[in-house]
Amino acid sequence: MTSGHIFKTAHEARDLIRSGDVSSVELTQSILDRIEQVDGDLNSYITITGERALERAAEADTGIAAGDIDGPLAGVPVMVKDNMATMGTLTTAGSQILKNFVPPYDAHVVERLKDAGAIILGKGNLDEFAMGSSNENSSYPPTRNPWDTTRVPGGSSGGPAAAVSAGEAFVSLGSDTGGSIRQPASLCGVVGMKPTYGLVSRYGLLAFASSLDQIGPFSRDVTDAANTLTVIAGYDKRDSTSSPKSGGNDYTAGLTGDISGMKLGVPKEYLVDGIEPGVRAAYQESLKVLEGLGATLEETSLPLTDQALAVYYIIAPSEASANLARYDGFKYGHSSEIAENAWEVMDMTRGEGFGPEVKRRIILGGYALSAGYYDAYYKKAQQVRTLIRQEFAGAFEKFDALVTPTSPTVAFEAGSRTDDLLAMYLSDICTIPVNIAGLPGISVPGGFSEGLPVGLQMIGPHFGEQSILNTAYAYEQATEWHKVHPSI
Ligand code: GLN
Repeated sequence: MTSGHIFKTAHEARDLIRSGDVSSVELTQSILDRIEQVDGDLNSYITITGERALERAAEADTGIAAGDIDGPLAGVPVMVKDNMATMGTLTTAGSQILKNFVPPYDAHVVERLKDAGAIILGKGNLDEFAMGSSNENSSYPPTRNPWDTTRVPGGSSGGPAAAVSAGEAFVSLGSDTGGSIRQPASLCGVVGMKPTYGLVSRYGLLAFASSLDQIGPFSRDVTDAANTLTVIAGYDKRDSTSSPKSGGNDYTAGLTGDISGMKLGVPKEYLVDGIEPGVRAAYQESLKVLEGLGATLEETSLPLTDQALAVYYIIAPSEASANLARYDGFKYGHSSEIAENAWEVMDMTRGEGFGPEVKRRIILGGYALSAGYYDAYYKKAQQVRTLIRQEFAGAFEKFDALVTPTSPTVAFEAGSRTDDLLAMYLSDICTIPVNIAGLPGISVPGGFSEGLPVGLQMIGPHFGEQSILNTAYAYEQATEWHKVHPSI
């Protein structure tokens, strides 16, 4: 029976298809059955495109048999976060303002997935416009954590993280502006990677904060992360920040598992106040594992870590306020039906269409960018951003990678931080500095605390994907955490 395959990795699934043990159609059907079984409790999906997926799977089976497609994702069912444009399929960004938006084009990453023969099952739930750390800002029923459905999956890519964790997709794509791939990966016990800014094209990603947003994979092991990154990375002239250095790498071929002699920095500022004792203990155990593999670990200091959150909450809302100005009720998406003139169309569409957190960020960003305050807030934040970037650059003169916790806590109870904004914003304290500096970061399953998954983060220099993937791979080979699945 194919239901036995739901917790396989994508590369195992691909091998089963290749060897003829199972067809892509059978595999896709078994994941659709799994979605049917658990998604009523989890809400990982906003839209499920089952019929289309089965058609695509049949095409993939034919293509594989004919030898036309043979990539690492050929015939493998995947999910895409609902802030990436999918031609002909509803794309909401978790917002009522886009509740009826069906894009006439595919995001670059979606084109890449299709070309690789991957089967897109549907669109993943998220905090509205990717603003949040718990999925509770989605305007759809919020995603819950597969390990304990009274808890959040993290955010904003909670749907894509929960789906991979619960066997509702083999791989998924998320976006990470301040931690939205790594933090939910940590809370759901899966691998999540944010690539270097510019490595993956943002064409077709519904913009939140353009200088921070980056697309990356969720998976059940590091090999799948490397495979998926190989598929989606690459220069794209439609994104002016896409790097010409991007593409042409086979990240999987570089997974040697040998990290002997590697120098790993352990920044003391990441053991923040409020880190749970169980998370700290798991982290310290993980450091020993890395040491046992022959890496040299040394404590280091990144004193500006503390400033990153403040910088983020100026820059991200500022850019969001500019990006979200396009939702005016005229071009696409929701348009107020009670408005009586052009001004009211704009005013009422936004009033009706945006949720409270999005409105808060637009107001915050508009304020920070306003004539009298620009120098004091936005410009100052950009200056500190440069210092943070330099501080990381200094660390990478000495170290090959940095190792930190991904989140100071395990998955928290739904509702427990919704009234305490600062507590919610602090969820990303270990991941935000990485976006500020445009660096690559990966979170891998790194133990359990109170029966819930703990993530371990590795941070690399710009375009240092291979070295953090390999460090993560070595760690994974030496541990069993990634093999434990939720019992839902
Ligand atoms: N939680 C952070 C925020 O609310 C980061 C979100 C993200 O990475 N998209 O902005």
